[in-house]
Amino acid sequence: MSGNEVAVIAHRGACGYLPEHTLEAKAYAHALGAHYIEQDVVATRDDQLVVLHDIHLDRVTNVAEKFPERHRDDGRFYVRDFDLGEIKSLTAWERRKDNGIDAVYAGRFPTGVGEFRVPTLRQEIKLIQGLNQSTGRNVGIYPEIKSPAWHRSEGVDISVLALQLLDDLGYRTKNDAIFLQCFDLTETRRIRHELGCQLKLVQLLGENSWGESDTDYNYLKTAEGLRELAKTADGIGPWIGQLANTAEVDGQPVSTGLVSAAHSAGLKVHPYTFRADELPPGFESLEEMVSWFVEILKIDGLFTDFPDVALAAIKR
Ligand code: CA
Repeated sequence: MSGNEVAVIAHRGACGYLPEHTLEAKAYAHALGAHYIEQDVVATRDDQLVVLHDIHLDRVTNVAEKFPERHRDDGRFYVRDFDLGEIKSLTAWERRKDNGIDAVYAGRFPTGVGEFRVPTLRQEIKLIQGLNQSTGRNVGIYPEIKSPAWHRSEGVDISVLALQLLDDLGYRTKNDAIFLQCFDLTETRRIRHELGCQLKLVQLLGENSWGESDTDYNYLKTAEGLRELAKTADGIGPWIGQLANTAEVDGQPVSTGLVSAAHSAGLKVHPYTFRADELPPGFESLEEMVSWFVEILKIDGLFTDFPDVALAAIKR
């Protein structure tokens, strides 16, 4: 992609078409032309890094069938309680609801079908680098350090492990095809200023009510908060509702002003998540939604489950 092109980030791979975070979903995202492919990073009991959205295994694998006794008191099965070999023995599938039966997105790849596996971070990056060589493209990676404070309480420094692996695989400078993301501002600062990471960093923004980390997202969204953040990060990753009020009475979305405030602070803006099968009010199609955010709000990139649709909309 050229310097001022809008970055299309395949959210959990092309997960609109294949189960999230499987190598198949990543290879397909590469084939569809995504500029970046996302990895969520979680640590196993033997300190291996795997690519999974949750610190739990139960919504996207058959762990409850295979290891029925291995849940914690809350009934959940934690990645951190399993060695990599055990996780590799699981079948991964399309994400299910909390009842463990129904698919979250009923129109997507059928859940329970297929012989998918949970990849390691190294395996996945090697796949993307191999495809880059064989296709002559330079698709970037977009890893997220998941729940760093929780991992620390479990006795593992996930940021140090991830940065070592990324360094080993050739990701070292601001010019490399990578953005590293995290919801936890304390950790983003530590990654930059204590661990000396030179990569492009994106601070994810949630709502304080989500309990995602101790970060005060309300403050971060202010002009002062954004200016301060720019000393650490290269961009922000807000959810779409933080950029636009899409439920206006006349059906027209309205900018919240966050994109221009972030741009004034010198930060790029990569919102999540653009889904054809979960459109916010005010949009008839994913193409229309992408076009509005790109043309009216001037976002710099976007996380999407459907990279081909986003690319087509941007091209038009
Ligand atoms: Ca993520």
